[in-house]
Amino acid sequence: MTIVAIDGPAGAGKSTVAREVARRLGFTYMNSGAMYRCVALAATERGAEPRDVATTLAIEPGEQVLLDGREVTALIREPAITEAASRVAADPSVRAALVDMQRQMLATGDWVAEGRDIATVVAPDADVKVFLTADPAERARRRAVELGADRSTVLAEQAIRDERDSTREHSPLKPAPGSVVLDTTGLRFDEVVDRVVGLVDRARGAVEH
Ligand code: C5P
Repeated sequence: MTIVAIDGPAGAGKSTVAREVARRLGFTYMNSGAMYRCVALAATERGAEPRDVATTLAIEPGEQVLLDGREVTALIREPAITEAASRVAADPSVRAALVDMQRQMLATGDWVAEGRDIATVVAPDADVKVFLTADPAERARRRAVELGADRSTVLAEQAIRDERDSTREHSPLKPAPGSVVLDTTGLRFDEVVDRVVGLVDRARGAVEH
């Protein structure tokens, strides 16, 4: 059982890197941000409190995201849900419910899990912990391309979410002890993936010898 934890701010390339690392290693991919997005979506649709719905949902947070069996991969990336997810994620009851679900999933098999608090809270004993980052302008540029949106708008909204993620009282975004901080500014995608896969190989080699 091997767990690779990849944390970092929005737009650092976590999802694409984590997915490719999982594919290369034959591990299962967990997108924990999708779970906060699912809580935001369900609460919005039902007009309910996020903390009340969080414990009732069945979420499959892989490449395709399923919420109670419904495919919501694209829907949860709508700007309104993105904004709501960031607020929902500051609620300690929501966090407790989702961390519980995440730990249960990670208890079996090999995983690449990405998010904000995987190495600090969810799986502090992860075999490999990577904190992926990039400078804010570069992150906004990547997100703007991905969303087909205006770069300065993305940069402004990103700054608000970064601030909220890193200053919230519960599980603020920060590198965990023992994590490797990888700044992807100026690195090619395949270079980043190679570095992470290399860390996993080294960690497994260290266990075997
Ligand atoms: O990574 P993504 O942008 O999809 O995450 C959506 C929201 O969920 C983020 O704004 C972040 O605040 C929150 N989140 C979190 N902890 C995680 C993953 C995401 O607080 N492990």
